Amino acid sequence: MLFECDPPPRLIGIARLAASSDLLEAKRAVEYFELETRRFIGRGSGRMRSIWTLNPYRGCEFGCKYCYARYAHEFMELRDPGLFEHKIYIKQFQKHAFRAELRRLKAGETIWIGTATDPYQPAERRFRITRGILEVFSGERSFDLGITTKSDLVARDAGLLAEIGRRNSVGVHLTITTLDEKLARLLEPRAPRPALRLRALKKLSDEGVRVSVLAHPVMPLINDSEESLDQVCAAAASHGASAFSAGPLFLKPCAQQVFFPFLEQHFPHLLRRYKERFEKNPYLQGAYPEMIQERVQKIRSRHCMKPWEAPEWPVSDQLELFREPVKKPAAALTLQRKVDSV
Ligand code: SF4
Repeated sequence: MLFECDPPPRLIGIARLAASSDLLEAKRAVEYFELETRRFIGRGSGRMRSIWTLNPYRGCEFGCKYCYARYAHEFMELRDPGLFEHKIYIKQFQKHAFRAELRRLKAGETIWIGTATDPYQPAERRFRITRGILEVFSGERSFDLGITTKSDLVARDAGLLAEIGRRNSVGVHLTITTLDEKLARLLEPRAPRPALRLRALKKLSDEGVRVSVLAHPVMPLINDSEESLDQVCAAAASHGASAFSAGPLFLKPCAQQVFFPFLEQHFPHLLRRYKERFEKNPYLQGAYPEMIQERVQKIRSRHCMKPWEAPEWPVSDQLELFREPVKKPAAALTLQRKVDSV
């Protein structure tokens, strides 16, 4: 416990950088900061050891109630899990530095964009970091590139992704947890509607980009019915996706702080059962995950879909991915500070 006369804690590493980040823009509920970053590409850990990960932003404005990545802001000493969706850090990006970083990787290596943030969240419209990254990839060859998003903004880059795909392997993975728009609005308050995501899927597929749909996370008694999952899979198939997958929810303590109050407000009858399960262990085990896997397999075969081709999601190791090293160079930031209301 801190007493009034205690000195403020000494911040180090990413927390120090976050605290000294320049404010680029502020709108009603969101502030954008610029974050200096020494390396863009990070190594996965555990079962993800064989792949590289890339997150253009820290934080995510979409504010999904189940989001596991809220933990990422804790590395910056931002302990309130709500700040993950209100303080968005834009990684400083320079094409030549990123190109040099990329060229240190071996041909054929897998790089995953969007493991701890959405690379097409609203910030991307303004700051275009993901677009810049893809433009560099368009001059490279032999990489295996994967992108996960909930945003229809990805369709903006359909042509560029197709171009990258001519000399690399590219897959775009849209997350759609439900087709029920009201439920989606509750669960993913600021993410584009499922219908918009499907439209983006179709555009990508028409351009020849390989696309798949993830109905992840599957939340017990919320979106786990066979009917609900089947609807998502059927829509994915009819909009050009070749693969479909879904996995059960996991709730780390930082995500519980947001998800439990959400349940209390919208699904009060489920709160006690969720607490009993997840407070003991953030991962569901036993019969439930097995039942969901069987259900998903059955649905997949009904719609002639393949399973998602990505490496298995590293539920327990994933948080290590946020520990990308960052370094503040001696030179002052050159971007002009902009504060305006939108
Ligand atoms: S889109 Fe992904 S990163 Fe963004 S809030 Fe939702 S779950 Fe988290």
